[in-house]
Amino acid sequence: MRITAILERTVTLHGGPANAVVDFTGHTVSLVALRADAARGGRPVTGVAFDSIGRFAQGGILRERMAPRVLAAAPEALLDAAGRIDPARVLACALAGEKPGGHGDRAAAAAALELACWDLNAKLGDEPACATIARHFGRAPAPAVEVYAAGGYYHPGDDPGGDGDRLRTEMRGYLEAGYGAVKMKIGAAPLAEDLARIESVIDEVGDAGRVAVDANGRFDRAAATRWAAALAPLGLRWYEEPGDPLDFELNRAVTACYDGAVATGENLFSVADVTNLVRYGGMRPGRDVFQMDAGLSYGLTEYARMLGVLEGHGFDRRFAFPHGGHLINLHIAAGLGLGGCEAYPGVFAPLGGYPDCCAPAGGRIAPTDAPGFGLEQKADLAELIAELTA
Ligand code: MG
Repeated sequence: MRITAILERTVTLHGGPANAVVDFTGHTVSLVALRADAARGGRPVTGVAFDSIGRFAQGGILRERMAPRVLAAAPEALLDAAGRIDPARVLACALAGEKPGGHGDRAAAAAALELACWDLNAKLGDEPACATIARHFGRAPAPAVEVYAAGGYYHPGDDPGGDGDRLRTEMRGYLEAGYGAVKMKIGAAPLAEDLARIESVIDEVGDAGRVAVDANGRFDRAAATRWAAALAPLGLRWYEEPGDPLDFELNRAVTACYDGAVATGENLFSVADVTNLVRYGGMRPGRDVFQMDAGLSYGLTEYARMLGVLEGHGFDRRFAFPHGGHLINLHIAAGLGLGGCEAYPGVFAPLGGYPDCCAPAGGRIAPTDAPGFGLEQKADLAELIAELTA
């Protein structure tokens, strides 16, 4: 078996709202296809994946550095003992000659390539990716994954702390659609206004324990702890990314003064970053939540190593909820037995969200039996994949 082509294209996201720091308008993602010299049903098998939602495409890094290295490698150097494409070997090859540290955009470029290997292997095995992933790591896939609806963005014309009708309507829609928990953005409005927004959402959901809030790294230490004090009496599900993702002392200051759960990790790019978080960030086993995202951080190979670091420090993988609400992370969560994952109903199309056949029920979504990550089951995404691989 050998990889015969690596194709990539930049995809623009639709329906991009704003959080406290970032306006998603204009964000792009790299869609990557990896073709092997194997056929199913008379057609070459192509593994497809993309990197993380919420940043920018990495076409240059893929075209100029990573794809040429992988395509120039001896085919057997990229295979496992059973003769299948080995995602870890492809990753190592893609990174040949790159210095450690300074991960940046290359971590996402490598992730798209590495994740496409998992889609390819699952399609070759004619099974859903969660089954391939679970078997590789000696596990059984979970039949369904707990998901929460991530929304509550700031929209132009909103009146934070006003009658809250748009925000309430949005949250009610998530509950009616079958989600059991929700998340909303905070930090772009003054504290008093955001507290009014949060209280209106709690009122709508009926239980603060099913409402998480996300500051997207906006606060400095003083603001992060001031907000922690204001949020503490509410009994929220979690308080997400209070400050800069690499300011571990700030995170520790928050966990030291906030009894509720703190969630962070979606902007960590490597095992070394995660090691520093658990060494210095004050994260508490059995309470705090880790949100690393394979699509941002070199793919599933590196993500599994991150879980090893967590478990080596006494944390439970059921407190891992990867950032990014899409099919790839759904299969990773099912395959690795994670606590759950995010969902983005109605935003970040065509990559975000799940196909109609994956509707939430009782707060959980089950992957389908489609081979691979099942990305082709999303009609809008299938069109882009067909164009890329034509
Ligand atoms: Mg977040």
